[in-house]
Amino acid sequence: MKKAGKHPRSAQAPVSVITGAAGFLGSHLTDLLLKRGHRVIGIDNLVTGSVDNISHLAGNRSFRFIEQDVTEFLFIDSPVDYVWHFASPASPVDYLELPIQTLKVGSLGTHKALGLAKAKGARFLLASTSEVYGDPLVHPQPEEYWGNVNIVGPRGCYDEAKRFAEAITLAYHREHGVATRIVRIFNTYGPRMRLHDGRVVPAFVSQALKNKPITVFGKGLQTRSFCYVSDLIEGIYRLMLGDYSLPVNIGNPREMTMLEFAEAIIRATGSRSRIVHRPLPQDDPRQRKPDITKAQQLLQWKPVVPLRKGLSQTIAYFQTRI
Ligand code: UDP
Repeated sequence: MKKAGKHPRSAQAPVSVITGAAGFLGSHLTDLLLKRGHRVIGIDNLVTGSVDNISHLAGNRSFRFIEQDVTEFLFIDSPVDYVWHFASPASPVDYLELPIQTLKVGSLGTHKALGLAKAKGARFLLASTSEVYGDPLVHPQPEEYWGNVNIVGPRGCYDEAKRFAEAITLAYHREHGVATRIVRIFNTYGPRMRLHDGRVVPAFVSQALKNKPITVFGKGLQTRSFCYVSDLIEGIYRLMLGDYSLPVNIGNPREMTMLEFAEAIIRATGSRSRIVHRPLPQDDPRQRKPDITKAQQLLQWKPVVPLRKGLSQTIAYFQTRI
């Protein structure tokens, strides 16, 4: 296995391939890697990603964009040091609309991205998800928890695609000796989330900014724990440079109910919105909070951006989009 903390071809600028580079997380990762001296090749089929997220990189000679579906063969003619596999629809509304593409990118797409890493002798990182824990019966969720997923429910296409993706990633590690990393990403928020992706942060913030009713699903007693995007990306970067190949949770353990979250958004925006209740979607996890002991010990990482500060940056972004 490659040494921790060292780029495989240390003499030159490291080359990173990012699938899903035009997405919310992929584009922030692209920015961080460019800042840290990487050359970045971004791949995206723009199904849920947007060129707006990478348009500021036009003319940057260290960045190249390939518009492609990553379930097709990935042909890259240069050496590659790191493959970061971020392509996938990621909001419940998106993967309900695109169940087959979600299953394909998690399975066939992960296979292609791993094949690329193997062919290039590159290190590989899979963007997995807290959804592998399903509607968790263990709280908070440590990496050792096997999860409680409804395979045939509406979220099954995403959850099972990512569970398969983790399994094939470890198979490539064990069988082919590819240096692999798996991050389980918990709810993350920040600029470049899509206004209409249906997730709670864009939904509540846009409703609040328009003084429209805030749609809390169910009684709003279900919990989530929100991590600001810069914290998440820093944790993922450290994970890639480390030498640990089993899954690691990255997220913010500050847990709140959706009712509390709605109130926090109303306060942060100074909105006149009131809260209304809508039916709870099927299989909506009742609670979610990462156990980040592993990330703290292995990566010396913990989130540092407080909710108030993260929200104010996110709100400022959405103000420009509404
Ligand atoms: N949610 C809500 N109102 C909305 C959108 C979402 O109350 O308009 C709730 C949703 O039911 C879930 C939580 O917010 O309990 C987080 O939903 P999201 O779609 O952001 O992602 P999830 O964590 O469920 O994957």
